[in-house]
Amino acid sequence: MNLDELGWTEHFAHAMPEGALEPARVASVYSARVDVWAERGPLQVSLRSRVLREVEGGIAVGDWVAIAKTEGEDSVVEHVLPRRTAFLRQAAGERSEPQAIAANIDRVFIVTSPEEFNVRRLERYLVAIRAGGAEAEIILTKADLDVDLEALTREANALAPTTITSARTGVGLDDLRARIPKGVTVALAGSSGVGKSALVNRLLGRDVQLEGAVREHDKRGRHTTTRRELFVVPGGGLLVDTPGMRELKPWQAREDESTFDDVIAIANDCRYRDCQHAGEPGCAVVLAIENGTLDAGRVESWRKLEMERMERTPLQEAHAASEAKRRGRIMSSALRKRLREKGR
Ligand code: GDP
Ligand code: ZN
Repeated sequence: MNLDELGWTEHFAHAMPEGALEPARVASVYSARVDVWAERGPLQVSLRSRVLREVEGGIAVGDWVAIAKTEGEDSVVEHVLPRRTAFLRQAAGERSEPQAIAANIDRVFIVTSPEEFNVRRLERYLVAIRAGGAEAEIILTKADLDVDLEALTREANALAPTTITSARTGVGLDDLRARIPKGVTVALAGSSGVGKSALVNRLLGRDVQLEGAVREHDKRGRHTTTRRELFVVPGGGLLVDTPGMRELKPWQAREDESTFDDVIAIANDCRYRDCQHAGEPGCAVVLAIENGTLDAGRVESWRKLEMERMERTPLQEAHAASEAKRRGRIMSSALRKRLREKGR
């Protein structure tokens, strides 16, 4: 294996500690060990518990690690290198610590099919992906179905660069490969049934993911014991396909709201404090919808996200607090400006 082809860059080379250590990239994570790709090939290595505390949310698929040989045959992970991007989610159960679901992802493909196409859902994915620090693109699958692809493509392209594919006919697969160049790491997100597994199998040229109903039966079987979640696309970059990324939840959104910047700017200018922006007479958001500055559907998506934030956990609360601070700054500068104008 060539390190560059695994996504190794200057960033990681600089972060590599001194000593008899070897870089490797995490391909799947188990409780006490990880599968990695190293220059000498795929390896299974164990973890030191200290290492787990070195990174936010624990070690994840896509992480770069420094491994060392031990007395026996085994190698052990000594360090996790600083991440370029990270996707975190809230761990299940009582503990509200974040859990890392993937690291060092450059680009996320939101996979959607004509059957489940929904602009609002796509917007929510976009927010979550940008919050993780990655670029977002859209893949519209099942182009062989008899639907108005042109209209769907237009809507999708307005949100993010869109590639149209069919795993059945092979349409768009070369375009898709070109979107995963050497050294670039791509992850897949999207609802169940949109055709992600079929795409992965076509891209890799072999059946690594089970398609359709078969997956359900095999959940605990052979498939999970030999699972690997980081794949090298022949002649191209890397593909991450994990359940965590597939089910990416938009709660991370509060980190980055560039998707709704225009709505927020106008909401911040609303003259009512504690306004719900839901039809109050004189509300700045309502006026903007009426005069065509804002799209009512986008405002509705933004309000739904805001509502989800109301039902949040302590971890989410902490994120929200820093967000509120940021907003406070925006508010007070708007207020200062208004006061200045008044004083004139
Ligand atoms: P996943 O849950 O996103 O991984 O979706 P799968 O790859 O398992 O596919 C879900 C269903 O869609 C299966 O029944 C596939 O046969 C079907 N499917 C996948 N790709 C295509 C395609 O390009 N065209 C059509 N017509 N069906 C597809
Ligand atoms: Zn308002």
